[in-house]
Amino acid sequence: MILWFQEKVDILESHDVQIRSVRQHFPAPAVLKLRHYIQPKRYRRVRLSRENIFLRDDHTCQYCAKTFAYKDLTLDHVMPVSRGGPKSWKNLVTACHKCNHKKGNRTPKEANMDLLKKPVPLQWTPAFDVKARIKSVDEVWSPYLTIQFY
Ligand SMILES: [Zn+2]
Repeated sequence: MILWFQEKVDILESHDVQIRSVRQHFPAPAVLKLRHYIQPKRYRRVRLSRENIFLRDDHTCQYCAKTFAYKDLTLDHVMPVSRGGPKSWKNLVTACHKCNHKKGNRTPKEANMDLLKKPVPLQWTPAFDVKARIKSVDEVWSPYLTIQFY
């Protein structure tokens, strides 16, 4: 609302909910358009975290290829920590409890469990930022988005 009062944005869509001040009320903005384009930073590092590893792997166990809810996922060290495996993008993958337990203290090769894909660092993109922050999307946004949410 402040950006709108400052005439920095146009409101394209609004929610049914009203924002009230003492004398006035306005529909709550849902989709805004910046009047002047702001160049996003071209490259940002994505923080290595549990959430971001799951996001990179689409919440899919990298051994059995099934998708799980966040609470049913674990982080697996491809080369086990006990054998010097680092905490890095290339050594961490998403695994379900069952597969992680089955693999145990072995490498994928030793356990005869192939990785779905080679783990690589996650590159930041504007779409990543939206996906990382937003769990569900309001219907009024859908005509403006190119990314799919599930
Ligand atoms: Zn699994």
